[in-house]
Amino acid sequence: MVPSCYVHIPFCDSICAYCDFVRIQKNEQFFSNWKEKLIQEIQGYKITNLHTLYFGGGTPSLLSISDFASIRNCFPKDIDEFTVECNPESLDEDKLKSYVDLGVNRISLGVQSFNDDLLEVCHRKHTASQAISVIERIQKSSLSTFSIDLIFGLPNQTMEDVKKDISTFLSLDIPHLSIYSLQIEENSIFGKTGVEPCDSDLEADMFEYITKTLEAAGYIHYEISSFCKPGHYSKHNLAYWQDKDFYGFGCGASGRINGIRYDNTSSLKKYCSLGPCPSYINETLSERAMDAIMMALRTKFGLNMKEWNLKYQNDFKVHYASVLDKYRAYFCFDGECIFLNDAGLEILNTILVDFMLIE
Ligand code: SF4
Repeated sequence: MVPSCYVHIPFCDSICAYCDFVRIQKNEQFFSNWKEKLIQEIQGYKITNLHTLYFGGGTPSLLSISDFASIRNCFPKDIDEFTVECNPESLDEDKLKSYVDLGVNRISLGVQSFNDDLLEVCHRKHTASQAISVIERIQKSSLSTFSIDLIFGLPNQTMEDVKKDISTFLSLDIPHLSIYSLQIEENSIFGKTGVEPCDSDLEADMFEYITKTLEAAGYIHYEISSFCKPGHYSKHNLAYWQDKDFYGFGCGASGRINGIRYDNTSSLKKYCSLGPCPSYINETLSERAMDAIMMALRTKFGLNMKEWNLKYQNDFKVHYASVLDKYRAYFCFDGECIFLNDAGLEILNTILVDFMLIE
């Protein structure tokens, strides 16, 4: 059984300055064809059982409730974790109630910053106070959990700004945070207009402050960019990090079935006329084994070496003995699991390069 499913909703009201995801301004010309093709794609798999379902984008909360329901109803009724990504300006009281009625039990809210000037720099269409009102609305609903996204390292953002964002986050008593450093992507508005990345020392100081402050407040830093209160892990994201299969449906979605990754077309025009047109990624067993290591070491749960050895027909400790020795101060072991300590997570990319150099 494939335990998880990601559905990509590629439409946005406007385009944020840092974004290079597959997204397009909502377009009536394509919408009904897109919806029809998406429903056909999902129904082709006749899914009867699902552990986690995630509607991401784009901006899923832009969909009307009837459109949302017609896509949602292609899936089984009972799903352990059903997350919808929302933007504050498109999540009103009625929509939130309808989501709950349709089995959604987790919202991931794109807040990005609680500073109105920085929100404007990012071309976000909401203010900080709008985001706070939506957070309070979610807290009053019967949703069992929710998350917000924040970004740090934004143009001209100071350490003081980061401290204020974290302090506002903590004052709102939110169960989960995904926090990312700004990456200047070539195809984003920032990339095209020559915005400079944040100074790397300042960015490292910001991240250290974020990590220490959230941990001191009782949050678990369970993945490089993810913090939660006990019991509020993102089960869906854990499926990616723990080397599980997942369906990816929709224009611009990626999935993995029987260990084989695929990317659906990112051309909305092509998707609307021909459907998903997946390209399968031809990975060798050792490439898949490396993917599993890269994902698992992002998390505090690390890699289960016994399972990895069985699945990838290798001996982790023997094969990577030189890397384990070189970074021995950064690795921790717990039974069959190996994981990185906080200092190791800070240099994860450097460590992974050394893993990749081993044939
Ligand atoms: S960040 Fe989200 S809301 Fe903004 S353009 Fe990208 S997908 Fe759309």
